[in-house]
Parts: sequence; C-alpha cells; structure tokens
Amino acid sequence: MSKPYLSIVIPCYNEEGCLGELHRRVSAAASAVAGENYEIVLVNDGSRDESWKVMEKLAAQDPKVLAINLSRNHGHQLALTAGLDLCSGARILIIDADLQDPPELIGEMLETMRAEQADIVYAVRRKRAGETFFKKATAALFYRALSRVTDTPIPLDAGDFRLMSRRALDALLALPEQARFVRGMVAWIGFRQVPFCYDRAERLAGETKYPLAKMMRFALDAITGFSTAPLRFASYVGLGLAAASLLIILYVAYGWLSGRAIEGWTSLMLVVVTLGSVQMFVLGMIGEYIGRLYVESKRRPLYIVADIVGRASGRAALGH
Ligand code: UDP
Ligand code: MG
Repeated sequence: MSKPYLSIVIPCYNEEGCLGELHRRVSAAASAVAGENYEIVLVNDGSRDESWKVMEKLAAQDPKVLAINLSRNHGHQLALTAGLDLCSGARILIIDADLQDPPELIGEMLETMRAEQADIVYAVRRKRAGETFFKKATAALFYRALSRVTDTPIPLDAGDFRLMSRRALDALLALPEQARFVRGMVAWIGFRQVPFCYDRAERLAGETKYPLAKMMRFALDAITGFSTAPLRFASYVGLGLAAASLLIILYVAYGWLSGRAIEGWTSLMLVVVTLGSVQMFVLGMIGEYIGRLYVESKRRPLYIVADIVGRASGRAALGH
C-alpha cells in the first residue's frame, strides 16, 4: 500500500460516544486537503466501553482507517506513541478523540507549515470552552511553572494538537524514554516550530479522561523529564537551613554565656518538625528521579499491541 500524504493520529480511551462524529468530521476535513491520500489512525487505549467494536466497524467500512488495539490502558502519551509509530504519512496530525480540537483547522495548519517552511505547527489554546475553573487554572499554572524550571522552550498552553513533518516525527520516535511527555519531547527535537492559535471547544461527549491522579502523574513526568531543578532546590534549601542554624547557634551561645537557660520544648519541637518535613519532601523528590531511573532501566516495550485492523493489518503486531 502506498504511503499516504497525511496521517491523522488519534488516541482514544472510552470514547464510544465521540468516534462516529469524529470519523465523519476528520474524514471530511482530511479529504478537503488531501483528496484520497490520507489515513486515520485510531488507537484504542484499553477502553472499558465499546470503543474497540466501533473502531473495528469503522475500519471495515472505511479503507482509510487503521485501528490499533492496545493490550490494556497504557495512558494517553503511550497510546499516542503507538499511533505515531504505526502511521506512515508524510505529514502527521495529532488530535484528541473528543473533538475539542477542531479537525477543520488542518487546512490552515498545512498552509502555515508551507508558508513558514516549518517542520512543526503546534496549536496554542487561546480559549478553552466547557472546562472547569480548576482545570484551566492548574493547566495555566503548570505550563508556567514548567517553563521556569526547564531549559527546553516548551510552548505555553499548547497541547498535543499539532502537525508534524515526517523528518520531525522520525526524530521524535528516536527518543526512547518510557515516561513520555510528548509535547516537551517535540519541543526538544528542534527544527522550525511555529504556533497556531485556536479556541478549544467543549468535549463532544463523555467526561474528561484525565482525573486528578492522571494529571499529577503527567505533571511529574513533565518536570522530572525536562528539569533537574527540584534536585538543585534541595541544595538551596540545605544552604538556607545551614545559615539559619548558624544564627540559632549564636543565639544559644549568647544565652549560655549570659547564664540564662533557654526554654527548650517549643524550640526543639519546631526544629525537629521543620527539619523532618523538609527532609521527607526532598527525599520524595529524589525518589521521583530514582523511580524514573528504575523504570527506564527495565527497558520494557513502551506498549503492547493486541490487534491491528484496517489499512496495515498485513503488518506484524509489534511493540516499540
Ligand atoms: N486518552 C487516552 N488514554 C488515557 C486517557 C486519555 O488515550 O488513559 C485520550 C482521550 O481519549 C483523548 C485524549 O487522550 O482522546 C485527551 O484526553 P481528554 O480529552 O480526556 O483530556 P482533556 O482534554 O480533558 O485534558
Ligand atoms: Mg479533551
């Protein structure tokens, strides 16, 4: 089968309510810019609903659909990686399944890529409709905190919705890490990257698949993957505490020399509790990095593919 001009890669977790409309809108948008020359790569990330059945049906009806079934839920970033590994287009669009990112923008993004001679066009969220204040506030804070602690210029308020050239994608796929923060890794590979502003729509159906625990994991992967600032922070705190203890020593010595006993319990407890909590916190941070090293050192495949149907079902099912 000849390689398509455009691949649209979509990770899906419990998205049965979105898939029909997603397929309709993505197909319309893709055929408007690429004629017959595109593929839609749907990755089922271990959904518990009927998503895989719907995908199989779509792949049976539409020869442009390639449906990949992972063996279990591997998480958004790994499902996305599976889709990127198995797509074969010259231009690759990453998009969410819930239609928060309008597929109709693909024409303008391709045009921006051509006009600016860019390898990557990343979409920046100007507005976010239908999301809670908490989600928007934590997201805004997260991107700003991340940009302060990392040397990689990771764009603010940009998700994974982006268009990439084949050479940029190949560079991205050469990065082997397990704990993947794809938008940061794309920033790291370089090439000419240009922003593209858009308004993010509401989710078409269902709930967000990023509960608080997944959001925390995601943020920690981003920070430990792209910065060692928390480790440096431990040294600074240590220095600060050393300075403070010097002052306390002077104070105690003064009390001792002037013959006055210093009240003990309160100050002792204060020091014990402060030191204890700072040490635990720093230990936890070091633990995050060590845990990451441990996971990486096992060198397991990033994901396991259970089934492939559609365009490339002739290809062997493989891990990474
Ligand atoms: N997703 C996934 N695996 C997961 C969680 C999410 O493949 O474990 C997919 C999901 O189906 C969607 C995309 O990742 O296509 C983004 O998730 P969602 O829209 O729920 O996140 P939000 O937009 O609320 O940040
Ligand atoms: Mg969403």
